[in-house]
Amino acid sequence: MSQVTDPLFVDGSNPDMSNEVLREALVTAERLRVQESLARQEAQALLSGLQVLTEANSVETMFSGILAVIGEVIPFTEAAVLVEDPSGETLGVVATNHARPPNSIIHPKDLLHRVLKGEPTIVMDLLQVPEWNQLPFDHQKGRRSAVLLPIETPRTRAIFVCLDDRVGSYTRHHLELLTYFTPLAAQALQRADELAAMDSLITRLEHLALHDPLTGLANRSLFNDRLRKEVEASEMLGLPMAVINIDLDDFKVINDTMGHEVGDRLLIETSRRLQHVIRTSDLVCRLGGDEFAIIMSRIGSEEDLLRVGKKLVLELGKPLEVDGQIVRPSASVGSAFVGKPEHSIAVILKHADVALYDAKASGGGTHRLFSSEMRAELDRTQSVESELRRAVDNDELVLHYQPIVCSGSDHVVALEALVRWNHPTRGLVPPGDFIPIAERSSLIQHLGLWVLDRAVSDCAEWLTDGPRRRIAVNVAGRQVLAPDFATEVLSILERHGVAPNHLELELSEEIVVKRTAEVMLDNLHHLQRAGIELSFDDFGTGYSSIHHLRRFPGQRLKIDRGFVARMLEDRANAAVVRSIVDLAHGLDLKVVAEGVETAAQQQFLVDLGCDELQGFFFSMPLPLDEVASPRCSSRIGSVAPVD
Ligand code: C2E
Ligand code: MG
Ligand code: MG
Repeated sequence: MSQVTDPLFVDGSNPDMSNEVLREALVTAERLRVQESLARQEAQALLSGLQVLTEANSVETMFSGILAVIGEVIPFTEAAVLVEDPSGETLGVVATNHARPPNSIIHPKDLLHRVLKGEPTIVMDLLQVPEWNQLPFDHQKGRRSAVLLPIETPRTRAIFVCLDDRVGSYTRHHLELLTYFTPLAAQALQRADELAAMDSLITRLEHLALHDPLTGLANRSLFNDRLRKEVEASEMLGLPMAVINIDLDDFKVINDTMGHEVGDRLLIETSRRLQHVIRTSDLVCRLGGDEFAIIMSRIGSEEDLLRVGKKLVLELGKPLEVDGQIVRPSASVGSAFVGKPEHSIAVILKHADVALYDAKASGGGTHRLFSSEMRAELDRTQSVESELRRAVDNDELVLHYQPIVCSGSDHVVALEALVRWNHPTRGLVPPGDFIPIAERSSLIQHLGLWVLDRAVSDCAEWLTDGPRRRIAVNVAGRQVLAPDFATEVLSILERHGVAPNHLELELSEEIVVKRTAEVMLDNLHHLQRAGIELSFDDFGTGYSSIHHLRRFPGQRLKIDRGFVARMLEDRANAAVVRSIVDLAHGLDLKVVAEGVETAAQQQFLVDLGCDELQGFFFSMPLPLDEVASPRCSSRIGSVAPVD
C-alpha cells in the first residue's frame, strides 16, 4: 500500500528521517544549481511557449510546443494533458507526446481527484498506486514515476502529467519548475477551447452556406460546385453522367390552400423520397422553392436514366398524410444525359431545364429526357430570342392600342398597349408567339421597359389632355422580380411628364399567385404608393383564391375573355362571371370584362354591374393614329372622367 508522506508525495518507500534530511539537502543544492540557469531558461521557455500559443492553430501544435520547452528543463519519457469532460465524470487525453492510447477515457479515482482539486503530486513509484493500472499510460512499457499538476481555466479542469521510466525521478524542484508552465498550459487549454468553439462555428457556418436549412439538402451553390467537378471527372474518365431537374406541380396551390406547414412537410418528404431513390454517391439539391435537382455522377445509358426518371415520378406522386390532411403531390422531372460532355455546364443545365419545361407543359406528373426534338426546338427558340433581341434595338416592335370603355356610357377611359413584332419577312407577329420566349430569359426586362417607355411617350399628350385617362401596360413576372423595376417605371413617367396615376400595370394571374418573392411585393407596394394603378389580368384562368385577391395590392380585376365568350351559352360560365363581379366589388376592386364581342354580351355585363368593358365590339387593338380614326373617334373623343 502506498504511503502518503507529504501532500505532495506518494511514495512507495518508507524513508527514515536522515534520508529525508539528505534528500532535502540534495534538493536545496539542486535548486541552487538550477536557479541561475532556470532564470534564463524560464524566460526563454516562456517566450517560446507564448510564441507557440499565439501562432498555433491546433491543440496538438500548442502542446507539442510546450512539451518541447519543458523537455529542456526536466526529464520525461512521456507527457500528457488530461482534461475533465463537462460532466465532470471522466478525463480525456487531449495531448501527449506519444501515440494516443487506444483507451483514452479515464475514470479518475483518489489520486487524480486530488490533483484535480488543486494538489500537485509526485508519484515515486507508479506500481504502488492501484489506480494507475487503469490509466492509459501503460506501466508495462516501463513508466515508473510521475509528476502531476492541476491546470485550471475558467471553463475546464485539467491535469498535466510527466512520466519517467525510473522510480523516484521527480523531486519538488521538478515540480516547482513545472509550475512555471502551468499558466502556459492553462492558456493553451483556453485557446484550445476557443479554437474548438470556432471550429464548430466554422463548420456550422460552412454547412449553412452550402445547405438548405429546411431539408438539409445541398443548396444551389454546392450544386454548382459539385456539377463542375463531376463534369470534369466524367470528361476525364469518359463515363456518362446525368443532371435531373425536379419541380413539384402546383406546389403554390398546396401551400396556399393547405398552409405553409403542410408545404414545408411536403418539401421535407420530397427530399427524403429523392434520397431514397438515388444512390448515396449522387447529390440531391434543393435549388429553391419547390425546385430540386440531382447530379448522377455515373449512369449507364439513357434507358437507365429513363428508369430513374420514372421511379422519381412514381415515388414523388405518392400521397402523404400531414396532420390528418391527405396531400396528393405530383412532380415534373426533366433530365439531361451527359454522354460525351462536349457541352458546357450552362448548356447541360439548359438541356435539363428544357426537358423539365416540356414535362410541365405536358401537364406535369411525368418525366422527360432531353431529346433531339427538344434540341431542335431549343435551337429555334434561341434563334427567335437572338432575333428578338436585335428587333428591340432595331425598332421592329410596334404597339397597338385597344380602348377600355366605361360600362354603360362607352366613354374611353383607358387604352391597353399590346405589343406586336413587325418582322421583316413574317409580317406582324402576335405577342403570343414571342412574349413567352422573351419571358424565359432576361430579354423580357429589356423588352418590357421598351414597351413602357414607348406607350407612355406615345400617349403622353392624350393622357394629360382632359380628364384623367389611363394607359394600361402588361408586365411579366420576371420584370416585377427585378429589384429596380419600380424605380425604372417611375423614372420613365417622369421623363415624359406623365403623372403616376395615369399608368396602370396589368399583372397576370401567374404573377399574383406564383410569385410571392419579397422583391416583387416591395416593387408592387412601391408602385402603388407612388399612385400607379395595378390590375389583375386574365382573372379566373389560374388558381387564384380569395386569399390572393385579398392580398392583391391593386384596384382592378380583369375577367378573362374565355368566361365572357361562353357566358351567354353556358349557365355555369355566367354564374362564374356573376360571382367574380360580386367578389371583386366586395373587396373594393373595379371589374373590367375583356373580350366583349357582341351587344348581347355588353348588355349582360352592364346588367351585372361590370365597371369597364374591352373587346372587339368596341375596337380591335390598333396603331395609335387609327384608334383616333373616324371609326373610333366618337368613342375616343368622348372621354369620361375616371373616378
Ligand atoms: P391580354 O393582356 O389579356 O390582352 C388582351 C388580348 O385579348 C389581346 O391579344 C387582344 O387582342 C385580345 N382581345 C381583345 N379583345 C378581344 C375580343 O373581343 N375577342 C378576342 N378573341 N380577343 C380579344 P394580344 O394582343 O394577342 O395579346 C395577347 C397577350 O399577350 C396579352 O393578353 C398579354 O398577356 C400579352 N402581351 C401583349 N403585349 C404585351 C406586353 O407588352 N408585355 C407583356 N408582358 N405581355 C404582353
Ligand atoms: Mg392585359
Ligand atoms: Mg387580359
